[in-house]
Amino acid sequence: SLLGQPIQGVVVSRFGQHADIEDEHGNIQRCNLRRSIKSLVTGDKVVWRPGNEQHQGLNGIIEAVHPRETVLTRPDVYDGIKAIAANIDQIIIVSAVLPEFSTNIIDRYLVACEETGIEPVILLNKVDLLDADAFAELDKTLQIYRDLGYDVFLSSAHEKSGLDNIQGLLKDKTTIFVGQSGVGKSSLVNALMPEVAATIGDVSENSGLGQHTTTTARLYHFPSGGDLIDSPGIREFALWHLEPQQIFDGFVELRALNGLCKFRDCKHKTDPGCAVVAAAESGKIHPMRYQSYLRITDAMAENKPTRVIPE
Ligand code: GDP
Ligand code: ZN
Repeated sequence: SLLGQPIQGVVVSRFGQHADIEDEHGNIQRCNLRRSIKSLVTGDKVVWRPGNEQHQGLNGIIEAVHPRETVLTRPDVYDGIKAIAANIDQIIIVSAVLPEFSTNIIDRYLVACEETGIEPVILLNKVDLLDADAFAELDKTLQIYRDLGYDVFLSSAHEKSGLDNIQGLLKDKTTIFVGQSGVGKSSLVNALMPEVAATIGDVSENSGLGQHTTTTARLYHFPSGGDLIDSPGIREFALWHLEPQQIFDGFVELRALNGLCKFRDCKHKTDPGCAVVAAAESGKIHPMRYQSYLRITDAMAENKPTRVIPE
């Protein structure tokens, strides 16, 4: 037959009707897609078969896609909701004191993470900009997140501190970095994988099939272990049209109060018998998180597509 035995692979990048997949030996194989494959994105685990004769620089054909553990999506004018990457295990939410430290933005990312089922981790970068007092102050806020069960890491991409801990975190996982522009995502990736970092985010990438303008995500290996999926679009991964209940559930401490309000359609603001307001008043829920929840639901109510990064 024309085709060899089926082999497992992982999609490293996808462009048009082709995809680069990494085979079990770490070699990149450029493949066509079977027409039956409706959606294929970076991180997808596939079954492919090598072709006997190479033509058009193609090495084989992707026959099937394994079910996804997780998927990142964004709205698309044509497709409604479009997948942008699959099988991500971990999202590192990068924050910093410069441009600004915003718990509301961290909360928006956390809600988005809870929705996708991908494990979030909070990373405060640029700690070199903090003196002892400023750090102690900020650490009190970070403690709110630790108390909620989130892991918090510290780093300085400039001073290359905290990177060992991050390398430990990355091992055996597929990770994405998200966060506001300017918090240091590029600098961190650069410090963690200097050889390839320079190419990430290039608008135009030579796919071998001519110069493609692509914002498609790409999978990289960290030299210290673990994989990175990255693209400008991934870094902007946002909260898109979530239902009020999904936002509520995205706050883990609110989720724990599900069904405890007097009224089923409680807006958790002024309704009598609201378990959330009671918990916020008694200090069981941190007021900062409660205010953050209200800000997000208010933005949703105004029917703005609530992006993680407010414009
Ligand atoms: P990105 O937009 O999140 O990718 O952020 P960049 O990596 O482009 O960094 C934005 C700015 O912050 C640049 O001027 C970096 O040099 C600076 N920066 C990044 N990491 C650090 C850090 O750990 N400490 C300090 N002081 N500046 C940093
Ligand atoms: Zn309520």
